[in-house]
Amino acid sequence: MNEIKDLPSQSPTIAIVGSGPSGCYLAQYLRKRWKEAEIVIFDRLPVPYGLVRFGVAPDHLGTKAVARQFDRLFEREGVRFIGETEIGNGLMLQELRDAFDIVVLASGLHGDRALGVPGDTLPGVHGAGRITRLINGHPGEQVDGLRGGERIAIVGNGNVAMDLVRLLLTPPERLLELGVAEDVVRALGPGSVKRIDIVGRSAAHDAKFDLAMLRELTKLPDVSFVAEDLADEGTADAEGIAKRDAVAEIAEASPARAARSVHFHFGWTPERVIGQDKVQSIAFRSTGDENSTLLLDVEGVLTAIGFEELTTSPIRRGHHESAESELDKGYLSPGLYCAGWLRRGPRGTIPQNRVDSKMVADAIIEAVDTAQLVPGKPGLPALLAHNLSNTRHMEESA
Ligand SMILES: Cc1cc2nc3c(=O)[nH]c(=O)nc-3n(C[C@H](O)[C@H](O)[C@H](O)COP(=O)(O)OP(=O)(O)OC[C@H]3O[C@@H](n4cnc5c(N)ncnc54)[C@H](O)[C@@H]3O)c2cc1C
Repeated sequence: MNEIKDLPSQSPTIAIVGSGPSGCYLAQYLRKRWKEAEIVIFDRLPVPYGLVRFGVAPDHLGTKAVARQFDRLFEREGVRFIGETEIGNGLMLQELRDAFDIVVLASGLHGDRALGVPGDTLPGVHGAGRITRLINGHPGEQVDGLRGGERIAIVGNGNVAMDLVRLLLTPPERLLELGVAEDVVRALGPGSVKRIDIVGRSAAHDAKFDLAMLRELTKLPDVSFVAEDLADEGTADAEGIAKRDAVAEIAEASPARAARSVHFHFGWTPERVIGQDKVQSIAFRSTGDENSTLLLDVEGVLTAIGFEELTTSPIRRGHHESAESELDKGYLSPGLYCAGWLRRGPRGTIPQNRVDSKMVADAIIEAVDTAQLVPGKPGLPALLAHNLSNTRHMEESA
């Protein structure tokens, strides 16, 4: 272990790239340690909070409320927000590194993972990330080409898929009340959805959704739930059994007749999206018996199978890794760190980023306290020569 030297360590200057939960939690921890340090969070968007603002469903107000806690950073704790500044495009990472003692990449991963099967780019196939950005009013998304329909298949059965089911079955007027733009509501057509098939690769006991998210669906009015295949593979732990039982209970308890229905399918992997110039159906193959297929006639396919790094992203973690990097601490190279989804991959909830950011903050603090990293760079003033004129600061966007 490194010896802590008794040096009067000067506060470092710190730049954080990305104002999602990982960047904001990190700023909280670093502010606690260094009351006077200059901490600047850059974001390519004009407003902060990443997926808290543009991913979390608009009806999950309790989850979105974490933003109020982060507001304090900018309003009272002297952390600066500089929006509309994409690092790696205009303002380069090297310029930040030259100006700041510490740079932390917390830029997330928001590309929708593609299905990777023939037909997956047909009009009518949409990624969940794009849909949730649209629903949340992301400035970079347009409704172009988006259309709903009476029958929709959702591929994937994690919490994001549950969000999609709920939002598609939420009355249009409620979505408008929640602030969803009219053109998005019109294009998604939540009022016209009659049947949703939600199809996952894993068995019910291995499904990725949380029980609370599944149970929330039962509050939707006039919906029947159908569990199409709940084969018990006998290897489930208590949590898995609870999941499987919950799907069965929800199906049994739901009304036999309802205006809309949600059909759960487990153990199917997509094989092909079929259609000429738009989606007409989607074919799956059983993960257990390769001779079994499932064909669903649908007007739209929503994919909720995870997120990945965009190949066009100007910040790619892999470009900054070397033999000396210690990813489990978020350490990339002297003065350069990473946190959140960019560090550990696109998994985990907002609270999990808090744990992540604490660990990265501890590694940074240790590096300064042990004089492995000696502060001295000027911070923001060094960048002022750079054209930041089109940036918007928190005070202006509040
Ligand atoms: C659709 C969806 C719904 C979710 N719902 C929930 C939920 O209900 N509850 C929950 O606990 N978790 C939820 N999550 C998970 C949660 O959102 C993530 O765990 C968390 O947001 C990851 O935080 P992050 O800071 O690493 O990344 P992000 O939140 O993605 O933040 C990254 C930030 O970096 C910015 N950025 C990217 N590149 C650059 C660049 N080059 N220069 C400057 N800025 C850049 C982005 O604009 C963004 O603001 C959801 C995720 C998704 C995708």
